[in-house]
Amino acid sequence: MDNALEIKGLCKQYEGFALENVSFTLPRGAVMGFIGENGAGKTTTIKSILNLIRRDAGAIRVLGLDNIKDERAVKERIGVVLEDGCFLNTLNARQVDTLMGKAYQNWHPEQFFGFMKRFGIDERKKIKDYSKGMRMKLSIAAALSHSAELLIMDEPTSGLDPVVRDEVLDLFYDFMQDEGHAILLSSHITSDLDKIADYITFIHGGSIVLSEPRDELLDTYGVLHCTADQLAALDPAAVRAKRVGAFGCEALVQRGGVPENWAVEPVNIEQIMLFLTRGENDR
Ligand code: ATP
Repeated sequence: MDNALEIKGLCKQYEGFALENVSFTLPRGAVMGFIGENGAGKTTTIKSILNLIRRDAGAIRVLGLDNIKDERAVKERIGVVLEDGCFLNTLNARQVDTLMGKAYQNWHPEQFFGFMKRFGIDERKKIKDYSKGMRMKLSIAAALSHSAELLIMDEPTSGLDPVVRDEVLDLFYDFMQDEGHAILLSSHITSDLDKIADYITFIHGGSIVLSEPRDELLDTYGVLHCTADQLAALDPAAVRAKRVGAFGCEALVQRGGVPENWAVEPVNIEQIMLFLTRGENDR
């Protein structure tokens, strides 16, 4: 089956910031967590995929189509949720339904209003009177109600309480029951990604630091607490990043490169992100 998303050599220059040669691939049937610190380039990458900004170089294929040449067909087949909301605050859900019906050939009002009912959202209430969670649920409901095959979402769970986040993750699970579907999801909430992501792509300072299946990542790496002498004795290729303190060292290591009798603790996505962002990097 073809890939849901292929980004090759994407470059975009702003004053004081550059996306540099960003490349990664999201297969169908998979959820990719797109992580990185504030200002790392996640939104710039997502806006490039959606052709909302003009890229300087590179190629992007979405569901096998060119994201610029085939923009209309691409937009029909993707569901988009952006950080700052997708609809005017003065609209209510009924007006969103009318607008979306005009924008999408495959708009399904019954599905959309089914979501509104499930979320307990009054169809006549204006978006400006929604809570943050309701606004996000409306955006997700709209993205899910036009037979999209790929969801592209910028921080869909940020600012939501754990209960609403869980409801939203359930929607994503339901969406992924079709093996032709895929999700690209930028997030700071790494615990959500621990639950749902099959792939992790990590961007730092405009460049991709890693893009790998989550399970492989967690199997390959671990955290080693050791002395400076022990760290110095290790093969440098096994040490991905380290923090050296007055009382010892902590390193993100490849398990295979560390002697078997040394205790290497399991690592989670948040620790990997912190090591690669704040630790000393040997590569
Ligand atoms: P966050 O997690 O805070 O949303 P992000 O990873 O999504 O961050 P981007 O929004 O992609 O980061 O921003 C990356 C960099 O590009 C930032 O330094 C930002 O100031 C810069 N930038 C974004 N848009 C513009 C623009 N239109 N003009 C100039 N610089 C911009």
